[in-house]
Amino acid sequence: MAVYVGRWDCTTCGYKGIKGPESECNHCGADRPKDVKFYLADDSEIVQDPEALKRARSGADWECSYCGENNQAFENKCMSCGNNRDASDGDKSLKTKTYYNNEVPRTGDNTKEKKLQQVAQTSKPRRKTKKKPLIIILVILVILGLIFGPGHDIEVTVDGFEWERTIKTEEKRKVIEEDWQLPNEGTLINSFQAVHHYNQILDHYETRTRTRQRVTGSEEYVCGKTDMGNGYFEDKYCTRNITESYEEEYEDPVYRQEPVYQTKYKYSIYRWKPAKPLISSGNNHKAEWADTREIKNNHYLRESGRKGIYCIIVKDEENEIHRHEIPEEKWEQLEPGTSLKARRGNATGKYRGLSDETLKIK
Ligand SMILES: [Zn+2]
Ligand SMILES: [Zn+2]
Repeated sequence: MAVYVGRWDCTTCGYKGIKGPESECNHCGADRPKDVKFYLADDSEIVQDPEALKRARSGADWECSYCGENNQAFENKCMSCGNNRDASDGDKSLKTKTYYNNEVPRTGDNTKEKKLQQVAQTSKPRRKTKKKPLIIILVILVILGLIFGPGHDIEVTVDGFEWERTIKTEEKRKVIEEDWQLPNEGTLINSFQAVHHYNQILDHYETRTRTRQRVTGSEEYVCGKTDMGNGYFEDKYCTRNITESYEEEYEDPVYRQEPVYQTKYKYSIYRWKPAKPLISSGNNHKAEWADTREIKNNHYLRESGRKGIYCIIVKDEENEIHRHEIPEEKWEQLEPGTSLKARRGNATGKYRGLSDETLKIK
């Protein structure tokens, strides 16, 4: 197990990288602090000298409870004041500590080095006001407003009416269907066997190979370092398994799809299907629904919804004709010759249709 020389930093003068076992700063002579933090520099040398190894392995240094001096483990008396080592409690050993590889301290943090002061910039550079692009955007908006804007009001007069009313119908028709059940109203044509679904059936096994891992032994490896409490560090060993991969044969089940047959019924049945709508229309102001007597007297027909389209023909101030679809209720209220508001584009002079307010129902 390799032993390394650790380092410490002087907290008094800030001198860095003093060799671990030294009990005084090489620079200012200050004592190694009681709570010294030993670290392992990247270039720390491995101890070869037998004397140094003996010292490293003798144990953690101890601190004299009387004068505070750091003494080596094998000293029975304080080197500074001569006090006998009080093994019972008073004199304390430095702590040993074990680190895993990624936790091993690489720098000291006891230095009083001043941190670089970051001078905060208080004054921000003045932003140049960008006026030109704003003016261009405004001009573009005005032009767009002229072209696509609401335009101006004009008056149009009601010149005619158009309408179309649709009654949707359904017809009861005989259709042929197939299903797993025969409906009550259905008339059976025939029944037969058909595939209803598939079952997964285990058919056979196939022998395949796969790669697996197995443990064949164990090995020791350097997993960290121990701070020996005297300026030295020592490798820490951990044990791990050695594995090897091997091929294994196994039986893989193979399934097949087996069809499950059931009785299926073919039958005729009456169903409601869309039929020809009843449409009525006119170029007048009297909208009517088509005659539904035909439907009411026929059990094989029924109504399935109504829809109406209502249009007015208007003449603008330039005697041009325009056609507009409007809500039925509004259509009913209008009379020939009624004047309505419409809009015409400012830049293009194009007719834009009736104003929204015109179409509101009063
Ligand atoms: Zn110093
Ligand atoms: Zn002492």
